[in-house]
Amino acid sequence: MSVIDDLPPLRVVMTEHGLDPRKALGQNFLLDLNLTSKIARQALPFDEATVVEVGPGPGGLTRALLAAGARHVIAIEKDARCLPALAEVAAHYPGRLTVLEADALTVDLTGLGEGRPLKVVANLPYNVGTQLLLNWVTTPSWPPAWLDLTLMFQREVAERIVATPGSSHYGRLGVLCGWRTEADILFDVPPQAFTPPPKVTSSVVQIRPRAKPLPVALEKLERVTAAAFGQRRKMLRQSLKGLGGEALLQKADIEPTRRAETLSVAEFCRLAELI
Ligand code: SAM
Repeated sequence: MSVIDDLPPLRVVMTEHGLDPRKALGQNFLLDLNLTSKIARQALPFDEATVVEVGPGPGGLTRALLAAGARHVIAIEKDARCLPALAEVAAHYPGRLTVLEADALTVDLTGLGEGRPLKVVANLPYNVGTQLLLNWVTTPSWPPAWLDLTLMFQREVAERIVATPGSSHYGRLGVLCGWRTEADILFDVPPQAFTPPPKVTSSVVQIRPRAKPLPVALEKLERVTAAAFGQRRKMLRQSLKGLGGEALLQKADIEPTRRAETLSVAEFCRLAELI
């Protein structure tokens, strides 16, 4: 195990602060500093950006981000038990770590960097990971406050994020992410890398904003994707009946017998604009 700073090993930190992992908070900790450093490096260069980490927990990834040169990390943690451990990290890196005790679902990233661009890096709690991503990708103003997102998800969620038409993973999440962002799976992380190990493999995904997403009202895009993928095995003339069905599809120049998973993001945008 590598040494990246003079702070105690994470197992010692967990014992000292009584940080027994809680399932309800999605606590699957990464204690291997080689791995946390590898994740932090994916977000380089930090340059003048402020790094936002959701769910620092005992601080493994936080320490890796600071050791990799992040000038300022804002860490948002819901579990107050983690705060004393994070205060030790903050003391080790004076002026470079701010810890917000908050539910990340309620934190608006806009304005958080006080004029500096943001890079979000996180081993996300799985129970709220998809919702957090949707909040960030569907933010009203675009381009967003963040330059990129480097995030750990369950492999299955990562596949849905990067999915393209024709894939069985392609659905609402893939359309919304594909509309506004480009995303890649960088590498997988096996369950045994976490304490405690989750049931499934995880993946680190990197997401970058598209400069010019197709202009479409988000609310309409959400309605079309919800209807189309709500009955993904049905033909679109059936699943989109409530939104205009066959007439709508004809107006959009889309064959009514097609199914949701064959439609490109551009075709979904076209339909959304016509409802
Ligand atoms: N970053 C640490 C690591 O890699 O070892 C911990 C990652 S653990 C998968 C998820 C962390 O998110 C936990 O520390 C948990 O307490 C925190 N968390 C869970 N729900 C949260 C929420 N809604 N807002 C902020 N933090 C949350």
